[in-house]
Amino acid sequence: MKPFTILGYSANDEVFCPACLRSTTGLGPSDTDYNGRPILPLYGADETVQEECCTYCGASLLELRLVAEAERERTNPELHVEKTRHRGRQPALRFDRVPPANIRTELKQAGWRWDPVAQLWWWPKGAPVPVPASLNLPPPPAKVVARPPTIRRREATAAQA
Ligand SMILES: [Zn+2]
Repeated sequence: MKPFTILGYSANDEVFCPACLRSTTGLGPSDTDYNGRPILPLYGADETVQEECCTYCGASLLELRLVAEAERERTNPELHVEKTRHRGRQPALRFDRVPPANIRTELKQAGWRWDPVAQLWWWPKGAPVPVPASLNLPPPPAKVVARPPTIRRREATAAQA
């Protein structure tokens, strides 16, 4: 859970879980409460917030959040992507499902092409291959370069001759 995850709200001098805020007060997080004061988000990083329970349903704000997160994980597992080759040649990316719009836009803008037959996003040009950082793929392996000691040895041999 991130520190700024909102576990609930403080409004009308009471503590609400997100669901009860809406169902019992009809207010949204950006509204002012019945006393005309802003509704305060209760952040998960605050230890006192972690001990709070909703005034209405009585549930622990922290537990509600953990349950919601587990549910989301189950129904919306992380997008998986792997590097592959397009027709055995060009660099390509294979997604386990249609990637979200922002990633599709990023790919398109970078110059990737979609091959509906191969079901791959592929890169039509040469290196470097601009893999969107949002995909969190490991960086390409470093190219093997001549090692300095080898070069020095060669220079030494040349100087002796
Ligand atoms: Zn509640």
